Amino acid sequence: MRISETITSLNILARNIWWTWNQDAREVFGELSSRTWQNVYHNPVAVLREISETELQTRLLDPNYFSKVNRVLVDFDNYMNPSDTWVSRQSSDLQGKSIAYFSAEFGLHETLPIAAGGLGVLAGDHIKSASDLGLEFNGITLFYREGYFQQSINQENWQTEYYNQLNPKNLPMDPVLNKQGEPLVCNVDIASDTVYFRSWRINVGRCPLYLLDTNLPENKPHYRDLTLRVYGGDSTTRIQQEILLGVGGVKLLRALEIQPSVFHMNEGHAAFLSFELIKEKLNDGQLFEAAMKATKKECIFTTHTPVPAGHDRFGSELVQYALNRYEKYLNLSHEELMGLGRLNPDDTGETFCMTVLALNTSRSANGVSELHGSVSREMWEDKFKLPKEEVPIGHITNGIHLLGWMSGPARDFWQPKLGDAGVFYEQVNTSEFWAKTEDPDFVSDEELWALRYRLRRGLIDFTRNKLIDIPKAREGDFISYDQLLDADTLTIGFARRFATYKRAPLIFDKLDKVVKLAKDSEKPVQFIFAGKAHPADDEGKRFIQKIAHLSKQSEMAGQLVFIENYDIEIGRMLVGGCDVWLNNPRRPMEASGTSGMKTAAHGGLNCSIMDGWWREVFDGVNGFSIGDDSHPDDIEEQDRIDSENLFRVLSEEVIPTFYNRDANGIPRAWIKKIRRAMATIAPRYNTWRMVQEYSQKYYIS
Ligand SMILES: *Cc1c(COP(=O)(O)O)cnc(C)c1O
Repeated sequence: MRISETITSLNILARNIWWTWNQDAREVFGELSSRTWQNVYHNPVAVLREISETELQTRLLDPNYFSKVNRVLVDFDNYMNPSDTWVSRQSSDLQGKSIAYFSAEFGLHETLPIAAGGLGVLAGDHIKSASDLGLEFNGITLFYREGYFQQSINQENWQTEYYNQLNPKNLPMDPVLNKQGEPLVCNVDIASDTVYFRSWRINVGRCPLYLLDTNLPENKPHYRDLTLRVYGGDSTTRIQQEILLGVGGVKLLRALEIQPSVFHMNEGHAAFLSFELIKEKLNDGQLFEAAMKATKKECIFTTHTPVPAGHDRFGSELVQYALNRYEKYLNLSHEELMGLGRLNPDDTGETFCMTVLALNTSRSANGVSELHGSVSREMWEDKFKLPKEEVPIGHITNGIHLLGWMSGPARDFWQPKLGDAGVFYEQVNTSEFWAKTEDPDFVSDEELWALRYRLRRGLIDFTRNKLIDIPKAREGDFISYDQLLDADTLTIGFARRFATYKRAPLIFDKLDKVVKLAKDSEKPVQFIFAGKAHPADDEGKRFIQKIAHLSKQSEMAGQLVFIENYDIEIGRMLVGGCDVWLNNPRRPMEASGTSGMKTAAHGGLNCSIMDGWWREVFDGVNGFSIGDDSHPDDIEEQDRIDSENLFRVLSEEVIPTFYNRDANGIPRAWIKKIRRAMATIAPRYNTWRMVQEYSQKYYIS
């Protein structure tokens, strides 16, 4: 390839986030300028804007760099034009069928902060795997110009929020154009207004993700800001965003002449898409009953919320205001339309629930773990007026996109054991590969322990750098950053949204005892926390305050760190570097949980309440359980018992096993657990398995 062609191809590569799961591709950009790479948050598009044409041409005169770039470009070309895929080989029923997947958030990479938490990360991992497996798959979401908030912790240890404006020009996204080459503009009806939107496209490997954006001069100012923030604003903003997502998404697909055979609602936020699908059929002359039936055949729904209070609900007046045109389009009275979102359609006192609408307008519904499926069937008994066992809600347990979550050192560790990048790529999700990790001839205890050290050291370096990044933390500090954390110490991590049911500070219920554990001179323990509380969640913010305070102004200082501004990058570092991944939600509130799945390939061990995915995989060896597979109904009782059990498992199992070393300093029993965790978790709790299950169970109708 000539240099000019290579430059063109590099620009195309930068605009396809395939690089989020290809380390060689990331290195090609990172190498151009390591400082810029850090500053622009690992964003190839922004790196290429920084590097002049002359510099790039000249750098490509270096034969080593040139051949590395070309190897990546060949890999990318092979990825984009595969001779066969899982769909073509094993799921030919899906060939020619396209799926439209609607989600209010997508977590794809730290440079695109358009997710609030696990729901979005799951959506991002879903579309990446759909691309890998060869599905015809279209993602739909909104372009949040200010994304989700950035977190900083003030002098009072209180979370404050600020927002950065995203500039599409500097991001791996392209405007969606019409046939004339102008931005394609569509519209939706909200209240009595016509609201216009344009769209952006993110190339996720072979699959497009469309982001709807109302920031257009045609719109009244308040509609221009409709897509400003993820879950921003009040319930009026919320219902309007959801109309845009559902109805607007369908309209965009039609404008692009994409005719999905399945519309997949990821959580109830997208359920208004069914209104548009019904309307289309009424306009074609069908009667309501028939249109409803046909719409139901096209839609599937994944629910993520195990408690009634967690489901979006809108009052009658708000629905009437926001959807008055849809009452006319669907030829329904206001109460009839409300009825589509009510457990009891005739109960005029009941609000409109998006989950009920989704259940009413989809042919199948599923929870995201076995227990969550069961909890959901029970929760919706009244709606279906069926005994629990007959409620038509199944389950598919969540997963993670393994390659996307594998840190650089872990990839460098595993790939040579499998051969070249191509073989690695083919096998990294298989049980054949991960079963080998239980074989000491395939990987020795010493190698695994060295990997753990390498990853733990990487996390400590990263954490120290992060804290130096935050100027405020310097005032009144009393430990130097190089004394913060220790590379020989058992490192326990906790990072996720600070929703109160996740009980981040549970371990500190027994503060004196934990301080004693942490400070043990032979067997010390250190903790790293990170996470954001929703801006309106004061209790979540108090949890952060408590932990941030302890990290600075208690005996825990130096052995407890709170990293500000949790995001995908911090997540990736933590799940790789921590020895133990702590998860102590109130059971059964953690519908699935996914962060613990990310640790397995790195040799981390889970220590978790028996909720969501963990109770399915825990076998007594592959990690640690806090309590057993049950819980009391009383919440205070549960908090008390769980806190006891957490302390017990830490002091009696986790710490002794970690520090039980042989003459060579190797913790053999611990490493046995690591091997079992790898063999049982990595090949199953990934999104290849998950998307295959969605395909077989729900996408092929
Ligand atoms: C994986 C992940 C989550 C989900 O974590 P849970 O423990 O399942 O809540 C949330 N946020 C980020 C950034 C993640 O990477």
